Amino acid sequence: MDPARRAELISRLGTTVAIDGPAGSGKSTVSRRVAEQLGIGYLDTGAMYRSLTWFALDRGVDLEDRRAVAALADELPLRMDSHPRDAHVWVGQREVTGEIRQPRIALGIPHVSTNLDVRHWMARDQRRRMMEARATGSGMVAEGRDITTVVCPDADVRVLLVADAEARLRRRTLELFGDDTPEHVEQVRAQVEERDRADSTVSEFLEPAPGVHVIDSSTLGIDEVVQAVIDLVDADLLRRAETDA
Ligand code: C5P
Repeated sequence: MDPARRAELISRLGTTVAIDGPAGSGKSTVSRRVAEQLGIGYLDTGAMYRSLTWFALDRGVDLEDRRAVAALADELPLRMDSHPRDAHVWVGQREVTGEIRQPRIALGIPHVSTNLDVRHWMARDQRRRMMEARATGSGMVAEGRDITTVVCPDADVRVLLVADAEARLRRRTLELFGDDTPEHVEQVRAQVEERDRADSTVSEFLEPAPGVHVIDSSTLGIDEVVQAVIDLVDADLLRRAETDA
């Protein structure tokens, strides 16, 4: 679609795009690129779980104390920049953009992301952010594990991004080490398998819910995946423009 026509439709109708997928499926890169191309916001829900984990560790709260961690979510002074190219995260006055990517956070996260009270809080907050963006004549691309199913099952476009295990592992290794030598791949393998296992206990992100479009990125280039999502957004905008007219 012509970008000017698309921008006009988005400002009239708003849009929400939900993208789920496992670690290494490429969803962060794809989500950012889609948001940038559409000129709308980007919501990294993983960064929210990471920030709450950072906050709990900073406050010395025992991550296994479910009630205490859930109570802390209500106090989380989280500020996120929704710009897709340069997303920053603050907890209070402290910028935590880099720190939330540290291995100590990755180690602590399973305790937080399997806490069902935390998940309720997150889903409510994430949905509010998406709907507010949509209502103001813009929109949001939100990426995570449960956006298509729990956070926003009524999103305008819902995508499950999958990739075969070896492709995901290679991408994750490149991201962490800048290369994919066999030793580095083996180091990352255990980490990725453990995260998938912990994540799959609380959200179903390897099988699409009804109505969710599956895109397999194992053999597609990033540009092709981005285009596939944009095509879905365009089709949805045109459909809604027709019924709206
Ligand atoms: O996407 P990212 O790797 O930053 O997510 C970090 C962790 O946060 C995931 O491994 C998962 O445990 C948790 N998460 C989640 N639900 C989401 C997003 C992230 O449980 N919607």
